[in-house]
Amino acid sequence: MEEPKIKVGIMSAAEVKFILDGDFHVSDTTVSGSQVATTDGKSIIWNNKEYTELFFEPTNDEVSFWLEDVTIGVNFHWERKENQRFKGALKLIVENGKITPINILGVEDYLLSVISSEMSATASLELLKAHAVISRSWLLAQIDKNKRIVDAGEQYSAVEKTSDDEMIKWYDREDHINFDVCADDHCQRYQGITRASTPEVAKAIEATRGQVLMDGENLCDARFSKCCGGVYEEFENCWEPIHYDYLAARRDGENETDFPDLTIEENAREWILTRPEAHCNTSDAEILSQVLNNYDQETTDFYRWEVTYTQEEISKLVKERSGMDYGNIVDLEPIARGTSGRLYKLKIVGTNKTLTIGKELEIRRTLSPSHLYSSAFVVEKGENDANGLPSTFTLKGAGWGHGVGLCQIGAAVMGAKGYNYKEILLHYFVDAEIKELY
Ligand SMILES: [Zn+2]
Ligand SMILES: [Zn+2]
Repeated sequence: MEEPKIKVGIMSAAEVKFILDGDFHVSDTTVSGSQVATTDGKSIIWNNKEYTELFFEPTNDEVSFWLEDVTIGVNFHWERKENQRFKGALKLIVENGKITPINILGVEDYLLSVISSEMSATASLELLKAHAVISRSWLLAQIDKNKRIVDAGEQYSAVEKTSDDEMIKWYDREDHINFDVCADDHCQRYQGITRASTPEVAKAIEATRGQVLMDGENLCDARFSKCCGGVYEEFENCWEPIHYDYLAARRDGENETDFPDLTIEENAREWILTRPEAHCNTSDAEILSQVLNNYDQETTDFYRWEVTYTQEEISKLVKERSGMDYGNIVDLEPIARGTSGRLYKLKIVGTNKTLTIGKELEIRRTLSPSHLYSSAFVVEKGENDANGLPSTFTLKGAGWGHGVGLCQIGAAVMGAKGYNYKEILLHYFVDAEIKELY
């Protein structure tokens, strides 16, 4: 197998300005320099001619192109526009009445860019190698999946299951139709070669070239999150009800099979309210700065954490975040927990409305202005106020993110302890195999 090419959708705009820094082939001609493409909603208009799509192919490896006014951080407080530079080919298509520029490049070059911007420059080589293998597996699985969807003419969307007293949703990437991944956080943040790549990342990618995680003949769905909380969560408790053997519950420690059944409420309570030993149970600043890109700004009590809301705060928050008026909040009852102690069903009892919600991301979105660290929490209610309602709700929790697959903080600790990347990967992806595809 040869190194595959990946198609990355960069942005969407009615008018696209770009600069070809060197010679590119397009149709039968060679062009370079500043270009503008616009659309009437159906065709692309470039140099006063109409096209259904345009393909600019670099004439050699040295040339690159700039895209102007690429929006980054979509829907984040730091959303802004910048000019970005890319290697590889540029394709322009019309989608939903706008032009989508697509960058087509080799998988390894793409990985160099995304891992350089995602990982801290101080990360250990073994941690970077583990990340390279995971990102490559995810990416190739994505390309495969898109091919299957396009071939079958299917449309994917977020899934939802609703009854009168229960609303269980899960969120996954919606799949793109005309390219493999987008350049935003929705898939993986990709900024081409706008910023220099990290030499350590280049080394990690080179050393693992073509290597992926496999489950028999299939590429692994190589998930990862910041901190599992001590035990891994299983896939089906976060997304669709499919069990993957390689995403099974294990202790994130030396003795992988030594852990309680956290689907049982008393066990989960004891686990969450204590600090059991685990790779990710660390406060080592040097290790944490390898994984947390903005270490200085981020809180470091993720292994066990606590949030308190007043009655007024929580009833307002739940109303705003869910779009439903529960009235005052009377109780938050744990209904079902996964293998890491994460709730995948939580009953919200209000004076106006009572509903059981899930899965973990829906719970985290409902109970926080942004995202609650995780859904592995227990609830402690304050004394009743004059109206007989709990005056406060304290959520005491464990872990950060969904907890499925590789635990980034645990993996960083393993790297620091001297484990190599294969040992790290096979610790988190149970009985998977590392294979070289090309
Ligand atoms: Zn995307
Ligand atoms: Zn962990």
